[in-house]
Amino acid sequence: MNPSDLLKTQNFFGTSEAALKKLFADWGVATYRVNQVFTWVYHYHCRDFNEMTNLSKSLRSQLAEHFHFSLPKIQNRTFSKDGSIKYLLEMNDGAVVESVWMPSDSRKTLCLSTQVGCRLNCSFCLTASLGLKRNLTAGEIIGQHIAINDELKEEDRITNVVFMGMGEPLDNYGPVVDALRIMVSPQAMKVSTRKVTVSTSGLVEKMKSFQEEDLPINLAISLNASDNATRDRLMPVNKKYPIEVLMDCLKKYPLKPHRRHTIEYVLLAGINDSDEDAQRLAKWLKGVPCKINLIPFNAFDSSEYRPPSEQRVLKFQNYLIEQNFSAFIRQNRATDILGACGQLATQSASGTLDPMSKVALVNK
Ligand code: SF4
Repeated sequence: MNPSDLLKTQNFFGTSEAALKKLFADWGVATYRVNQVFTWVYHYHCRDFNEMTNLSKSLRSQLAEHFHFSLPKIQNRTFSKDGSIKYLLEMNDGAVVESVWMPSDSRKTLCLSTQVGCRLNCSFCLTASLGLKRNLTAGEIIGQHIAINDELKEEDRITNVVFMGMGEPLDNYGPVVDALRIMVSPQAMKVSTRKVTVSTSGLVEKMKSFQEEDLPINLAISLNASDNATRDRLMPVNKKYPIEVLMDCLKKYPLKPHRRHTIEYVLLAGINDSDEDAQRLAKWLKGVPCKINLIPFNAFDSSEYRPPSEQRVLKFQNYLIEQNFSAFIRQNRATDILGACGQLATQSASGTLDPMSKVALVNK
């Protein structure tokens, strides 16, 4: 398909069931046909409306006139010693994002991006240095999953998804919600809601809207400090939504039975890793149904921060466990390829693809 056709028609990937039902109603087509089209596309991986033989010829041509199928292009793969792969993906307009596939014994997790860059400006995060270039569409968000899954072997296919790559998911609210609905729909990508996690820096208003979406998706809250002055410095969003406001939102958040929030806490040596920090953190989280992931900082050259010693991390964790919290030290993945938490951005420093990197396919 040439580029002008792409502009004239809409990407089918990212089109929600609700939007397609409305379109079919406008066309006078029975809405049960939506399920048939979704089954062809997401279950049988059909990318040509003409092959959808249980649809009438006229509906097939109407669909072909209205939609195209477009996925991000994989421009680079960087392989980590731990088995993870960092993908550089190029969108139709040349914008690029990174996604990281991380295998473990029981699961294959994809960390995907929701924005090109980010405007939240967290001081420990490499993505922040890009600023926000643009939001991704729902099609570009699920497209990362589909494009990567398409090239993986059957046994390596993605089982879990975390929205923790480039961008603040709730800052790109509508497309992220559409992408989530397609991802967890039994008619579409069929990912279990228990296997999807959306990470947020704590945009409280958007968190309140999200809880009304009837999407039982786990939230991970990036907290990273035990007092407002430190969190203001690390995460400027705290000036708008300070810790007490965030905690109040979490305590009132209607969780499904047996679900709990994930609290992400990046440990930075000498900044937020003291015994007093652990004590204040435990006080804040009293009454919040949660588990705590402690993430020793993944250092990068231009950063002013360093990770704490292993001993300090263990002491911090032990205190929280003594206070009856589930506290885990999250094993860093893909650190050797700058694919770990807060490290995505290096290959795409301008937010668009460096022409030279198009030929730089990194081998295992
Ligand atoms: S940590 Fe997340 S929210 Fe903060 S700047 Fe980085 S990508 Fe944005």
